[in-house]
Amino acid sequence: MNGYIAGASRSLKAPATRSGTAIPRRTPRSLMQIHDFRNLVDQELLWRALKHHPLYHDLASELRSLTIEEKTGPNVGVEMDENRRATLYIHPIIRPCERDRFILYHELGHLADRIDPGFGYRHQDRMRLTAYQERNFLELWNVYIDARLNQHGLFCLPREGQSAFVIDGRRYVLPKNDVNTYLLEAITNLTQRGMYRPGSLVTTIWNNPHRQLSFDDLLDPVR
Ligand SMILES: [Zn+2]
Repeated sequence: MNGYIAGASRSLKAPATRSGTAIPRRTPRSLMQIHDFRNLVDQELLWRALKHHPLYHDLASELRSLTIEEKTGPNVGVEMDENRRATLYIHPIIRPCERDRFILYHELGHLADRIDPGFGYRHQDRMRLTAYQERNFLELWNVYIDARLNQHGLFCLPREGQSAFVIDGRRYVLPKNDVNTYLLEAITNLTQRGMYRPGSLVTTIWNNPHRQLSFDDLLDPVR
C-alpha cells in the first residue's frame, strides 16, 4: 500500500520547477530505474548511497528498479519483490542533514542484506513469523544495520527528544541523543514483545559490527 495523500507534495520545500515532474531517471551505468515522481529524495545523496553503500558495494547494479514513496505511517521502510523491484517509503529529503542521510542508508541497508548471498535472506520464513516475532526480528536487524553504519560513521541519533522507560518498576526518562537510550529502547521493545532477557544479545550485536550475522542469526532468537 502506498498511502500517498494527493496534494502532499505541496508540503515539500522543493522549488516549483522540481515538483510534479514524473520522469523516471535512467542512468547510463546501470539498468536500474529510479522512480521518484515527487522528487522526495535528493538525487545526489540517493545515487551515492546506491552506488557506494557500505553494506553492499553497488546496490544500483543489483536492483531492477527503486520507487520512492512518501512515508505516511510508522512501519515499513522498504520492500522488494522477487524481481528485485524495490520500494522505499521515506520522508522528503530535500536538503539532507546527517540524520536524513543515516535514515536513507539504514533503509537501503535492509536491501543490501537481502541481496547479499552471505546473509541468506529467506522471505518465506519471515512471512511465517507472528506479528510480534516479525517486529522483534526487525528490531534486531535494525540494530545490526545500525551497528555497521556506526562503524562507517553514518549512524546518527535524533538530535532532540526523550524516551521514557519503566524497568523493574522504576521509571527512567532519557535523552534520545544518547546511544544508551537507543539500545535500551530496543531492549525494552524486545522484552515487551516477549523476548527473554535480550540485553546481552542487543549489546553484543552493537559492540561487534565486524562480526557477520546471517538471517538465521537474527531469526532464531525471536522464534
Ligand atoms: Zn530498519
